[in-house]
This record gives sequence, C-alpha cells and structure tokens, in this order.
Amino acid sequence: MAEGAQPIDGKAFAAGLRARIADAVPAFEAATGRVPGLAVVLVGDDPASAVYVGSKGKATVAAGMASFEHRLPATATQDEVEALLAELNADETVDGILLQLPLPGHLDEQAAVATIDPDKDVDGLTPVSAGRLALGIAGMVPCTPYGCLLLLQDRLGDLGGKDAVVIGRSILVGKPMAALLLGANATVTMAHSRTKDLPDLVRRADIVVAAVGRPEMVKGDWIKPGAVVIDVGINRLPPAEGAAKGRLVGDVDYAGAIAVADAVTPVPGGVGPMTIACLLRNTLVAAHRRAGLADPEGF
Ligand code: NDP
Repeated sequence: MAEGAQPIDGKAFAAGLRARIADAVPAFEAATGRVPGLAVVLVGDDPASAVYVGSKGKATVAAGMASFEHRLPATATQDEVEALLAELNADETVDGILLQLPLPGHLDEQAAVATIDPDKDVDGLTPVSAGRLALGIAGMVPCTPYGCLLLLQDRLGDLGGKDAVVIGRSILVGKPMAALLLGANATVTMAHSRTKDLPDLVRRADIVVAAVGRPEMVKGDWIKPGAVVIDVGINRLPPAEGAAKGRLVGDVDYAGAIAVADAVTPVPGGVGPMTIACLLRNTLVAAHRRAGLADPEGF
C-alpha cells in the first residue's frame, strides 16, 4: 500500500448516511403528517432482482419510511406495467417509484421507465431526469453515481479543477457520473470501448471512476500517484477448484491500485453499499420537494 493510502469504507459511509436519513424522517412527518414512501415494482421472478427488491424494502423500513412492494407476473403486458406505474404516479403516499430492471425480454424498459413521474423518479432514469442533470437543474440523480460523488467529496473536498476520467458511458453509471463531476467543476474525460491509449489517459487523472464490467481491467501502473480511485464494477470470478462460488472483484486491480493511489474503493464494501443509501436519500429529497418543503440539509 502507498504510504498514507486508504481503502474508502463505503459500508461505513453508507451506514452514516442511512442514519442521518432516518434522523431526518421525523421532522418531515411532523411537517406533513406522513412519512416518505418508496414503491418498488418487480416484474417476473428473477431471483437476483427479488433479493435486491427485498433489501431495498428492508432498508426503507429501517429508515422509518413506508415501503410499498408491487409484484407483477413475468407474463405481465406493457399496458399492465404502465397502468401500475400510473397508479403509483397518482398515489399521494408514494414519493419514490423504482421499477426494478431488467424487465422480462418482451417488455420495453425505456418506454415503461419514461412513464414514471420525474418528480418520483428516485432511480433518475427517465429522460426528464437525464435532461435535468445535463442542464444542471434540480432533479433526481441515479443512485450509484451519486454515491460515488459523495465518496469523492468526502475524500477530496472540493473537486473543482481536478482531472477526472470516467471509464464507461452507460446510462446507469458512466454518463450521469460524468455530468455530476462536471457539475462539481472537475475536468472530465469519458472513456469507453473505442478509447485509444486508455492507460495513458488514466495516468493523467486525479480521479478515476471505473464502471466497465471487466474484472480487474484497470491496472496499478495506470494510476497516477495520489489519485483517488472509485471502482463501480462488480464481477464474479470463476470459482477456484472445490469452491462453490468465485470471488467478487471490481474493474480495478485493487492491490495494484492501492500501492500507488491516495484512496481506492474496495469490492465489495466500497460503492455497492452507497447505492441503496442514495435511493433512500433520493426518496427523502423527493418527498420534501413534493410537499413544497426546502431540501433537507446535508444530503
Ligand atoms: P454497461 O455494460 O452498461 O457499460 C459498460 C461500459 O464500459 C460501456 O460504456 C463500454 O463501452 C465500456 N467498456 C467496455 N469495455 C471497455 C474497455 N475495454 N475499455 C474501456 N471501456 C470499456 O455497464 P454498467 O455501467 O451498467 O455497469 C458497469 C459495472 O458496474 C458492472 O460491473 C456492473 O455490475 C457494476 N455496477 C455496480 C453497481 C453498484 O451498485 N456498485 C450499480 C451498477 C452497475 P461502450 O459504450 O463503447 O460499449
């Protein structure tokens, strides 16, 4: 490990954020007579999605908010999914709506997501939310990149003038991450599968965010000494002989990176825990805005 280098403890940061969210709920309840509500819609019976939905529901209740879980069968039609989303849009007790993705293959995800009321779009995935983020006006921001921004600001303070490289340009992570960093006055380069000389580009960066989905692709000798590295990737390696499951690794070679960087997020325990915490944060913020209250402070 480089002298002074540190793993970034996303688990502890997320726990602190969740505790602060729970502390803010009673004031909202006192002002409005109700607690913030998050509705999660699960279509079909994908086991991984069911686990995610379960943990989101538990975290919502633990923060003192109302959790509404809606399940539709794998055979649900586009009209049925959109009718449920319309019902939730109209439900005054629901502040946040999350449509768990992926949807079964016969459904049009983008069309369904686009019907969610942007003011309740706690996943930040509607075209209106993406537009607001691009324009720099208040809206809902996707949870994972927002969590990365919080970790970076916690480590570095002001990001103004920092050189940042975001590897990956997905709608879920890379693009909103770049917009958030730009909003925080970093100088941002976006890299993707067609980028030339990626190692050289990364070597110039004070901040590296890797959201690629390729195990340990970013090597330690790509990292500038003293850089802060955020590893969004979650990849399961093939199991070692005799083991039931393979190890989870990120998109960054952690051991190599921590030897030169100022700080690196480990996988697991780095970015992952921030995603649900930021979903709760978005629900709290959406509830305040819908009730005509000022944004809660410190989130
Ligand atoms: P996508 O597959 O949607 O996007 C991957 C991006 O990486 C694409 O833009 C692609 O470029 C780029 N890419 C692929 N190969 C290379 C390469 N060799 N060099 C440079 N860029 C490359 O993935 P997501 O953004 O949805 O997710 C990325 C990772 O983050 C995954 O491991 C995922 O599991 C994880 N993840 C973790 C979350 C968490 O809570 N921690 C939440 C969401 C995702 P191109 O556009 O040119 O194809």
